[in-house]
Amino acid sequence: MSQPQADVAILGGGPGGYEAALVAAQLGARVTVVEADGLGGACVLTDCVPSKTLIATSETMGMLGGSADLGIRIEGYEARARRPGSVSVDPPRLYGRVKALARAQSADVAARLAAEGVKVVTGRGRLAGPRTVLTGDQEISAGVLLLATGGLPRQLPGAEPDGERILNWRHLYDLAELPGELIVVGSGVTGAEFASAYQALGSQVTLISSRDRVLPNEDPDAAVVVEDVFRRRGMTVLSRSRAAGVRREGNGVAVTLTDGRTVRGSHCLLTVGVVPATGDIGLEEAGIRVDGRGFVQVDKVSRTPAPGVYAAGDCTGVLMLASVAAMQGRIAMWHALGEAVQPLRLDHVAATIFTEPEIATVGVSQAALDSGQVDADVVKLALATNARAKMQGFRDGFVKLFARPRTGTVLGGVVVAPRASELILAVSLAVRQMLTVDQMANTFAVYPSLSGSLTEAARKLMRPEEDAR
Ligand SMILES: Cc1cc2nc3c(=O)[nH]c(=O)nc-3n(C[C@H](O)[C@H](O)[C@H](O)COP(=O)(O)OP(=O)(O)OC[C@H]3O[C@@H](n4cnc5c(N)ncnc54)[C@H](O)[C@@H]3O)c2cc1C
Repeated sequence: MSQPQADVAILGGGPGGYEAALVAAQLGARVTVVEADGLGGACVLTDCVPSKTLIATSETMGMLGGSADLGIRIEGYEARARRPGSVSVDPPRLYGRVKALARAQSADVAARLAAEGVKVVTGRGRLAGPRTVLTGDQEISAGVLLLATGGLPRQLPGAEPDGERILNWRHLYDLAELPGELIVVGSGVTGAEFASAYQALGSQVTLISSRDRVLPNEDPDAAVVVEDVFRRRGMTVLSRSRAAGVRREGNGVAVTLTDGRTVRGSHCLLTVGVVPATGDIGLEEAGIRVDGRGFVQVDKVSRTPAPGVYAAGDCTGVLMLASVAAMQGRIAMWHALGEAVQPLRLDHVAATIFTEPEIATVGVSQAALDSGQVDADVVKLALATNARAKMQGFRDGFVKLFARPRTGTVLGGVVVAPRASELILAVSLAVRQMLTVDQMANTFAVYPSLSGSLTEAARKLMRPEEDAR
């Protein structure tokens, strides 16, 4: 449907902002994106893309670590300890690759926006009215405003990063060397991913986790597998330990814990969350409300209470994923420009934690089952029984499926496996299309394959016809 020309201003050029810009331009709007640091946002330049590029290298090191079991001899390589001997990481080359790839990805985003006729203004913007953005000496007024300013690494008082030894994840790629002894503070998704990656790259890693187990907000069975792998590979995991402060000490760092202990290492990486980048951009003066933590309040079609003002991505705190930011941005534009729109559904979001092995999830969670919020039948199959896993030398992991009792509709699943991020699509499709375990079980999977465990789990959830009635 053709749209009348409309002016859309977007503050922030990350996935929330640039995906919205593409949709709005396709719908015929005149779009201006104001971006301070680079198109693609923190997602492309410092957070998601660089970390997954680093993990591509750590994954290869991990594979080499398991190579002896597959009959490969690498001289000097201590496969059991996964310590580099004649195989080692070249940090300048690794970090150079990470940064070059991020820059190239940002250039791709710029090219896509230019091709759609989106105007990009480089500079830091702030609101000069409900739908007016001021940047440098330019004032951009629009009928529709989208806020997509993302987030910033949360700082721990008493542990201010210096960018050399006390770091947040945005400092990592400027290091000259691999950290010899890396202390990771925080065992959520970001902490677990970097702890896993640096352990495989050759650092001695200590992970400080304030809870009973790592990844406290994830599937508990999956977290147990990953923590077990961490410890088996020589990582020190300090559970129920909270960092009180971090200081430089000679050529290293000392992390003091709230119980008085001190942990020493060469570097400390702080992964204690993300705060919204919503301070000092004139939101309050423009009548746009934020909650107590600074997140912009939005509904399921990304509307703020201020007329014509939408928000997407990490600045809303809805679910801090690039895919969700992008979807919120697109939904905002479809809604603002009068297209048919489906509200955001978080129960359909597929997500992955890129540890080794990966944890991929979609749909209902074990926590929802355990709390009685959801009634579901569950089957969990260990990967150790899968023929392909045995051939590849994978021992750790499982697939888990949740299905509605009686109807057998697939409600969700968890895959813990190498490349679980790719395997979860089958479950994601089943959840989105409301397929039943019978339909999944009657779908061919390749033999031998890891995805064969998914159809097998579905088979185990099938009920004889008399039970189903
Ligand atoms: C280490 C790490 C790894 C991650 N890995 C994944 C992953 O594997 N998969 C996944 O889905 N998600 C991942 N995420 C989350 C993902 O990066 C974020 O959810 C995503 O970046 C959010 O997009 P956004 O558009 O809201 O914000 P951002 O990507 O943060 O972009 C916001 C942009 O707004 C700009 N900006 C801010 N204020 C202003 C201003 N006043 N004027 C002009 N410009 C401004 C910033 O410069 C920035 O470029 C990861 C996050 C981290 C920290």
